[in-house]
Amino acid sequence: MRGSRILLFLLVTLFAARSGVAQAASVALMPRMVIAGSPELIRVSGPANALVDGEWLGRKISFSADHGTWVALAGVDVEAPVGPSTLHITAHAGGKDIDLSRNVEIHEAHYRTGALTVSPKFVEPPPEALIEIEEESKIKAKVYAASATEPLWRGSFHAPVASRPTDSFGTRRMFNGKLASIHKGADFHAPAGTVVHASNSGVVVLARKLYFEGNCVIIDHGMGLFTLSMHFSRIDVHEGQRVKAGDRLGLSGATGRVTGPHLHWAVRWEGAMLDPVKLLRLDLDTVR
Ligand SMILES: [Zn+2]
Repeated sequence: MRGSRILLFLLVTLFAARSGVAQAASVALMPRMVIAGSPELIRVSGPANALVDGEWLGRKISFSADHGTWVALAGVDVEAPVGPSTLHITAHAGGKDIDLSRNVEIHEAHYRTGALTVSPKFVEPPPEALIEIEEESKIKAKVYAASATEPLWRGSFHAPVASRPTDSFGTRRMFNGKLASIHKGADFHAPAGTVVHASNSGVVVLARKLYFEGNCVIIDHGMGLFTLSMHFSRIDVHEGQRVKAGDRLGLSGATGRVTGPHLHWAVRWEGAMLDPVKLLRLDLDTVR
């Protein structure tokens, strides 16, 4: 599950610094193979005192300093178009803009198709529920728009429960034979009452009951990165609370749109829904 399996993709370019001395700048992506739904650690080595910013598929990338390089934990949405993309990166140094942009191929992920049956109120919510759902989406939008401007995570992410996740991320789902949607998280087997832990450090920005998510906890890990845990039977944290990896968030359950008790765990970066299992496999212990 660690970095031994992950190859470092290193592209090196040379550019002339203002002084006229050639310096190396590099952009490395981990994992190297970019798939629709991949989280990606982007590391930029550039000239000293540079500032780095970027954009990929319409999403702004914010970098933070790490051991003399710049890093960003970003990714490609599960529904991103397969094919070539441009990862725009610019280093600003000595009054100059240095273009470090790269072409990155986005490979197809082979997600499955599944069908399941839930209570009809979750497929065609009654009118009074639509108001509730609308209110909740406003609350979530507000939360997502206010991510910390510095990374709050430290090192690798840890599984929220001890059990193995199911291979459920990205599955095209039919609910009650009607509504098709894409499953944008990973489901973990968790009998009701299983303790759910924080996967990394951050701030609890939402801890309340929502219509589809049931009892839901959202943690802001900074710079647009959030983890979401759903369907709790009990929430043990409050909004505004700082947590670190391993802290108890609550107990798993079967609240919201479910077929039975489990933990739905999701990863969101700048609106892109990323494969949580791939995030757990990223070795970030040498970062930050
Ligand atoms: Zn789920």
